[in-house]
Amino acid sequence: MSIDSNVSAIYEKLIKRNAGEPEFHQAVAEVFDSLGIVLRKDPHYLEDNLIERLCEPERQLIFRVPWVDDQGRVHINRGFRVQFNSALGPYKGGLRFHPSVNLGIIKFLGFEQIFKNSLTGLPIGGGKGGSDFDPKGKSDMEIMRFCQSFMTELFRHIGEYRDVPAGDIGVGGREIGYLFGQYRRLANNHESGVLTGKGLTWGGSLVRTEATGYGLVYFTLEMLRAHRQTMSGAKVTVSGSGNVAIYAIEKAQEMGATVVAFSDSSAWVETPNGVDVELLKEIKEVRRARVSEYVAEAEGAILHTSGSVWDLPCDVALPCATQNELDGDAARTLVANGCKFVAEGANMPSTAEAIDVFRANGIHFAPGKASNAGGVATSALEMQQNASRDSWTFEYTDDRLHKIMSNIFKNLDRTAKEYDHEHDYVVGANIAGFKKVADAMIHQGII
Ligand code: GLU
Repeated sequence: MSIDSNVSAIYEKLIKRNAGEPEFHQAVAEVFDSLGIVLRKDPHYLEDNLIERLCEPERQLIFRVPWVDDQGRVHINRGFRVQFNSALGPYKGGLRFHPSVNLGIIKFLGFEQIFKNSLTGLPIGGGKGGSDFDPKGKSDMEIMRFCQSFMTELFRHIGEYRDVPAGDIGVGGREIGYLFGQYRRLANNHESGVLTGKGLTWGGSLVRTEATGYGLVYFTLEMLRAHRQTMSGAKVTVSGSGNVAIYAIEKAQEMGATVVAFSDSSAWVETPNGVDVELLKEIKEVRRARVSEYVAEAEGAILHTSGSVWDLPCDVALPCATQNELDGDAARTLVANGCKFVAEGANMPSTAEAIDVFRANGIHFAPGKASNAGGVATSALEMQQNASRDSWTFEYTDDRLHKIMSNIFKNLDRTAKEYDHEHDYVVGANIAGFKKVADAMIHQGII
């Protein structure tokens, strides 16, 4: 990747002002890499310091989250909410609870979210939040007390028209329930549009649980079709076994693919005959257990504690675990093994070097800000249902999701062609996502 000379001074300054935040630098560099192309054609985007403004969050909140464990001990975690850009709509983006969370991680996620949300075509701005709290091994009561404490500060900063958080790693239906309960109590208000990913009986939307994984596969299908390939008969590797991975596996197999591997942070599993999705759901969603339990109960599954899912030959790779999980070496192995398509289900799972390897070797690559936009898009559909006090059927909502993902692909494809980078979906995503936000910022003046 290379930073265009038009924006290199902004990038140097950004690195200095945001020291010690390598993931944020990486996410900005990926966008800046494509901006050179747009700035040569449309230099007016350099006016009024627009690009520097876009890289500075509108607001950043950091707060103390004290909570009491089951033994009566007091713990202190750090809470974050970065309200990055609201030119297109209220801040929208998930909350991540994971020990790796720090301000730089939330800023990289919030920055990506601006462009992702822009690509959905729906009226949502970009934001992200979370905490360095580790939900692993905690009881339900500990999770509840943590969520209540977290919301006790967050509630004054969010709202249906202001900022609408949702889930991400470590935050699923259980956590959204506790967070919403505390919001409702503090605000004295059943403002269902304040959070998405809610339970189905209290304002949630059908398909939201499946949306990121299903959306990833709908997007991948479009990308395959554009290169005269199909999902049916394809060998697919998936990393992770959380919410995104599970529903990507389910949809890919429904379309006739064989998913030959998945993983969690403890090990990876080879599944030459495909994945038993119901068993995987039981182990991950109900028991909250390790993938070794899957191997103990599924026929023909092989547990690996060294190497990674990227070691296996496949046609399509779907990284669905976390940032920077797929590096240059893994990318070279995928190339050597004949992989032709990579679509990101997680946020920034491929390192910059890995993306360079994909590009240099003709692997068709879809960046997460486009291919994993189905989750937040369906959150925006949940907001529409809340605003109209309605609830849609599974089929209708799934159809809307499918159309949104197809449109995102078409938009990327068209934009990449327009800027003389046919099939470069990184360029397509960054430019299409950027222009919509940048135009809105120009129309709204210097704020
Ligand atoms: N955390 C998801 C994402 O990265 C979903 C956010 C949402 O639904 O607001 O896009």
